[in-house]
Amino acid sequence: MHDDRTLVEARLKRVLEERVRPAVYPESVPLAVSVWTAPGEPVPVAEGLAAPRSPIAVGDAWGAPWSTSWITVSGTVPESWAGRTVEALIDLGFDANMPGFQCEGLVYRPDGTPVKGLNPQNQWVRIAAPAVGGEPVLLHVEAAANPVILDYHPFLPTELGDRETAGDKPQYRLARMDLAVFDETVWQLVLDLEVLGELMAELPVDGARRWELLRAVERALDAIDLQDVNGTAEDARSHLAGVLAAPAAPSAHRIGAIGHAHIDSAWLWPLRETVRKVARTAANMTALLEDEPDFLYTMSQAQQFAWIKEHRPEVYARVKKAVADGRFVPAGGMWVESDTNMPSSEAMARQFVHGKRFFLAEFGIENEEAWLPDTFGFTGGLPQIIRNAGSKWLLTQKISWSQVNRFPHHTFRWEGIDGTRIFTHFPPVDTYNCSMKGSEIAHAARNFKDKGVARHSLAPTGWGDGGGGTTREMVGKAARLRDLEGSATVRWERPAEFFAKAEAEYPEPPVWVGELYLELHRATLTSQARTKQGNRRSENLLREAELWCATAALRTGLAYPYERLDRIWKTVLLHQFHDILPGSSIAWVHREAEATYAGLAAELEELIGAAQQALAGDPAGGRELVFNGAPHGRSAVPAGGAAVAAGAAVAAAGPGDCVVAAREGGGFVLDNGLLRVVVDGDGLVVSAVDAASGREAVAPGARANLLQLHPDFPNMWDAWDVDQFYRNTVTDLVGADEVAVHAEGPAEVAVRVARSFGSSTVTQTLTLRAGSGRLDIDTEVDWHEVEKFLKVAFPLDVHTERYAAETQFGHQFRPTHTNTSWDAAKFEACNHRFVHLAEPGWGVALVTPSTYGHDVTRAVRPTDGGTTTTVRFSLLRAPRFPDPRTDQGLHRFRHALVPGAEIGDAVREGYAVGLPERRVTGSAEAVRPLVELDQDSLVVSAVKLADDGSGDLVVRVYESGGGRARGRLATSFALAAAVPCDLLERPWDGTRGEVVADGDGVRLALRPFELVTLRLTPAG
Ligand SMILES: [Zn+2]
Repeated sequence: MHDDRTLVEARLKRVLEERVRPAVYPESVPLAVSVWTAPGEPVPVAEGLAAPRSPIAVGDAWGAPWSTSWITVSGTVPESWAGRTVEALIDLGFDANMPGFQCEGLVYRPDGTPVKGLNPQNQWVRIAAPAVGGEPVLLHVEAAANPVILDYHPFLPTELGDRETAGDKPQYRLARMDLAVFDETVWQLVLDLEVLGELMAELPVDGARRWELLRAVERALDAIDLQDVNGTAEDARSHLAGVLAAPAAPSAHRIGAIGHAHIDSAWLWPLRETVRKVARTAANMTALLEDEPDFLYTMSQAQQFAWIKEHRPEVYARVKKAVADGRFVPAGGMWVESDTNMPSSEAMARQFVHGKRFFLAEFGIENEEAWLPDTFGFTGGLPQIIRNAGSKWLLTQKISWSQVNRFPHHTFRWEGIDGTRIFTHFPPVDTYNCSMKGSEIAHAARNFKDKGVARHSLAPTGWGDGGGGTTREMVGKAARLRDLEGSATVRWERPAEFFAKAEAEYPEPPVWVGELYLELHRATLTSQARTKQGNRRSENLLREAELWCATAALRTGLAYPYERLDRIWKTVLLHQFHDILPGSSIAWVHREAEATYAGLAAELEELIGAAQQALAGDPAGGRELVFNGAPHGRSAVPAGGAAVAAGAAVAAAGPGDCVVAAREGGGFVLDNGLLRVVVDGDGLVVSAVDAASGREAVAPGARANLLQLHPDFPNMWDAWDVDQFYRNTVTDLVGADEVAVHAEGPAEVAVRVARSFGSSTVTQTLTLRAGSGRLDIDTEVDWHEVEKFLKVAFPLDVHTERYAAETQFGHQFRPTHTNTSWDAAKFEACNHRFVHLAEPGWGVALVTPSTYGHDVTRAVRPTDGGTTTTVRFSLLRAPRFPDPRTDQGLHRFRHALVPGAEIGDAVREGYAVGLPERRVTGSAEAVRPLVELDQDSLVVSAVKLADDGSGDLVVRVYESGGGRARGRLATSFALAAAVPCDLLERPWDGTRGEVVADGDGVRLALRPFELVTLRLTPAG
């Protein structure tokens, strides 16, 4: 037979697009349209409904950036349409080539009940089926003129990302606003032809099934009268029924589809717009659930449910009902889909605490899966947190975005730093926006790496970010793919059902140990430094606020601020969303985030101040008390307690005093008996000798605290990415405007260094304090560069193949070399408070309260053959998309070099550098800590009152060194009971180490990096 395949395929394409699809709406009449534009920010629904309208016509421009227009459409169903299905078609001026990321609407009835959302791929509103002739139609649309930020020419700088700079030029033109007859038979024919045509394209050309589909499609096309598609659609469909009924092969891949809309809690729009995006999508999805009995929808992020509850109660009522029916499925059990690299141990834990608690309280549902489809990499600390939250599964597809290496599994057990294993699935469809296209379904089946031993994968299906979620067309296609020869099978399936099935069929999947590093978006550890500092500052202040408020509550009866802490935590957790903390949002989001963090800091300082004053007693007592919120004792002040400040330094110089002297040839020598630091005439550190060992930390011939500037213009995703070639060009900022002694006294010596480069200036203060083996470096940068990357380098005389970087509840190791493509791809990585390098018996720590990005490289010196391992912290970038002025202006950083540091020193100094002592005047002689640990590697990560208001104390402890640790947690109050709990503070028997109540204390034996949450009930 002659091969006419391409001819028939081209015919299908043209007939479908030009004749069949337009025939879905064979008749239409225009609707009358009028509009009112809210003068500023969005108004309540009642106000928008009631506002006076002015006429507007199809083709007219509307919508200044970020403005809201209330558009009213009205008309009458023609008498001749009686008995037919009638829909309104409302096209706000959508670009249907982009499923979201533009204008959107939410349709209301005149009484204020929501109908559904309007999105580029979802422009219909069902009026009646069957319709009554002469019926009036009146609908109101709350239309948001969200501007397009990420265009066809992506990543161009734009001023549209902030209402303050966006101008008032209308962004859209009203397009079709019609009342139309909907021909369901033609609509079904479109789906038949799409499904078969798309499947056909994926099948082997030499296979019989492909040709069976081709011939069936040809017969259907022959049956269509192009002048009467509506009259012949039924007959055309009959020619396709046979091939659509042929069942899938027994070995076919099985896809569990779940309705989904990935909605970024802020990104190319501000937080306030997400509130509305979520409401539109939830309105759409609850409507679709009513229309489609097999369909299931999932939504993650408790915050988004909370927004609907607060701001769109009419939509929330529908959500609650659909959840109760088991069809609208809350997923993930987290407050938001957060970043996981940067949040602290406690914050990562609280993401689950607040997420799960919300779903339990609102719906009585406890999620067992963590749902993070779009998060930029996953730390080795996360598995233990997931398990301690009472969950056991993880879903993400993001690792498929890695630039270099293909991950070897789609279903596997992921093992964290403590040995916890979490059953993990990466949907092989490689997207969280599956649209049921044949190419996606075939890709999932082909791509699935675990074929032969497993058969199931998950496909999150629907448009996110203003796309409105799953469409009825996707549901229609999924129905055809349920059991279709040549295709993977598709069934709507809840995430938990999928995971249970996948785990049952694959009880011994492969294991991946350690972090799931995303080989992309590495610059999100650095972009928008002020947002990142706001996060870290909030985390530290929350630790202090909980500690001191709990201490004051138990000691003095001061009321514990449950509600304020709950609200502040939720705000901090929200800002850890995977486009806010990573710095990849528009200027508006980061401007607001900085203001929000400042407000939280003020509020937390007030809580801390009040609690400490209650503990310190009457200021008239005149005693200066030093409070230590860090988990280790310092300056004779116990961890979690306070002591009277030591007297003024003795007049005579002693052996531990700080001294600074001029250095021959320029520069200064700083010495405090523990550490001797030499700063050269350029203000660079040429020597740092740890007195205890006599060992030099700085590599011979090298200079530390060296600021380095790179060009930084990635190929795409400006705020997200730093591409490896950035390293090819570097400028060392060695020229100093000033190198001078800044402080000189027995307690502290400091050298100040000022530099200027490009349009920027930097001032650094290098400080040595009495009794401290740490060189503190405070850096102030007035940053006015464009597309540059600023790093500070510490070339160290350490020979090691790996280094440690702190993560949640421990640290993870990464190589210092680039042996494999996996090693080489980690050229920018995350640390929490420290990076530590060691040879057996001696190490160096670099600690920081607020820098997350770093890189570590190694070189062998030609002079002496020794190894120089260089750690560089990443201070600032200056990408121009999506915020054209990212990071411009003043920044302050602190870093510290700790020569001679073991891992325990790195942990201690990491905490200390971010949790300075506080001084309060009062009458008390001391504040005894509520709990004390007698083992340094056991670290308290939180002391707080139980969230249930019982008055119990909750203490979270973890093993911080990566080894076994035995110790005793002593309480300074009579203890009635001590119960190990999960993160939600519920009694839990999952603790792997030993927890034994022992009088007024608890004996602990923890495994490497193990965390344990204790609920301590005071007696009486
Ligand atoms: Zn996202």
